[in-house]
Amino acid sequence: MSASALVSRLEALCGTNYVLTHPHALSTYASDGLAQYHQTPLAVARPGTAEEVHAVVLACFEAGVPWVARGAGTGLSGGALPVAEGVLIALSRLRRILAVDLDDGCIVVEPGVTNLAISRAVSPTHFYPPDPSSQIVCSIGGNVAENSGGAHCFKYGFTTNYVIGLEVVLSDGTVIELDRDAPGYDLLGAFVGSEGTLGVATRIRLRVVPVPESVRTLVAFFEDTSAAGDAVTAIVSAGIVPGAIEMMDRLSIKAAEQATHAGYRLDAGAALIVELDGPHDECTARFEHVMTLCSEAGARDVRVAQSEEERALIWKTRKAAFAAMGRIAPAYYVQDGVIPRTRLSEVLGKIDELATEYGLQVANVFHAGDGNLHPLVCYDDARDGEPERAEELAGLIVKACVDFGGSITGEHGVGIDKKRYMPDMFAEPDLEAFQRLRCAFDPHGLANPGKVMPTPRLCGEVPGPYREHPLERAGVAERF
Ligand SMILES: Cc1cc2nc3c(=O)[nH]c(=O)nc-3n(C[C@H](O)[C@H](O)[C@H](O)COP(=O)(O)OP(=O)(O)OC[C@H]3O[C@@H](n4cnc5c(N)ncnc54)[C@H](O)[C@@H]3O)c2cc1C
Repeated sequence: MSASALVSRLEALCGTNYVLTHPHALSTYASDGLAQYHQTPLAVARPGTAEEVHAVVLACFEAGVPWVARGAGTGLSGGALPVAEGVLIALSRLRRILAVDLDDGCIVVEPGVTNLAISRAVSPTHFYPPDPSSQIVCSIGGNVAENSGGAHCFKYGFTTNYVIGLEVVLSDGTVIELDRDAPGYDLLGAFVGSEGTLGVATRIRLRVVPVPESVRTLVAFFEDTSAAGDAVTAIVSAGIVPGAIEMMDRLSIKAAEQATHAGYRLDAGAALIVELDGPHDECTARFEHVMTLCSEAGARDVRVAQSEEERALIWKTRKAAFAAMGRIAPAYYVQDGVIPRTRLSEVLGKIDELATEYGLQVANVFHAGDGNLHPLVCYDDARDGEPERAEELAGLIVKACVDFGGSITGEHGVGIDKKRYMPDMFAEPDLEAFQRLRCAFDPHGLANPGKVMPTPRLCGEVPGPYREHPLERAGVAERF
């Protein structure tokens, strides 16, 4: 099937208004949240129902054309970066809440529903705990594909702990149902975090939990991140499991405070947000204990939210940290790595050393309880060679995380950006096992090719024009 015949077929399936081919329209979809990479697809299809998604995937299969699923495009590792000559399947029209069953503690949604809309749909009695900072816009389909986390995952767990059922369209058009409680291989577990490489999720069943009786939130200001890190260790060692425990360093406080005017102390080297939730009496007693531990670790100032508005402002500042970096530098690169919590000071020392060597500023925001770092490497994209230096520095930070016993990603995924680091974490047989799993779901290599794995997979007959070298034909993305 020729490219124009495929486009006509997509138009017949979705409606002409929902298939984009004009270069201006396509440019909106050329990147995701990792703007350093861009690629123009053959077409963007915007199906309106699960059945239309199925039909689009089948049409791509019959044409032998690769495709990439896209939710809200907020991913930070280039997972939703299109493939040249491929189809981008944008799921933003699939926004229906299909069923809410609070007695059973579950909700069924389409993949384009935003993360925040899920909590809203089950409020005021329940909520959906995984809360990425992008939750106002990011889609639950993207969350499932990335196994997204957020501030409240230290206590509550990640997306994978909440997905209990999926309807998935495989790249040959087969529709499968995956159920958390079904016997046999845990294919649902394999799908969550697979970054769109195993199929498209078209229906998602999630667990939701009751809203806790009481929530208490504070922000404590420290001389430096090392003292704030000591407070984290003391709190966790005392057996306290905060609903959330988040840290921001001096530079990220400076950027975020300019955006929200929440009253964060600009003279502090670190801000630690601690939120406890649970039964009222337990929460109150533990909260007193947390305040004492913060003071003992050297907190200069501990501010307790006295109202829901104050609590919201504390969180708004934390959640604004990424976007607010634009106030510090014209461009920045969001890194995502994991380290053992106890090695925070050493790793931050290493990051400082590297930042000085590269002559660049690095701000740090952490999910401190999980040891999940988000170094934000600031640069000026108008200066010759600076974007490349920033990328190199970000890469060395990831390698440092692995050297200190951590991981190349905590929650933003591997995508196109970090596949080169996979061999730093996995041995050849491990990578091969991943490839075999991927080939079992997508033997024709049409689902999000070129992502996650460092080497091409050649696992079977590819129909149509991609028969020879699917990845080479699919095109390497342009960077910067
Ligand atoms: C300001 C900001 C803050 C962020 N904060 C956090 C955070 O706190 N925690 C966190 O974990 N992440 C965070 N992120 C990253 C991002 O928001 C998450 O990765 C999110 O889950 C992506 O969702 P999306 O709908 O934008 O997905 P997209 O970016 O559109 O896609 C992401 C991946 O999912 C795949 N995909 C999308 N939908 C489907 C589907 N239905 N079926 C199969 N595959 C699919 C795509 O192919 C791609 O590989 C942040 C991003 C930004 C910009």
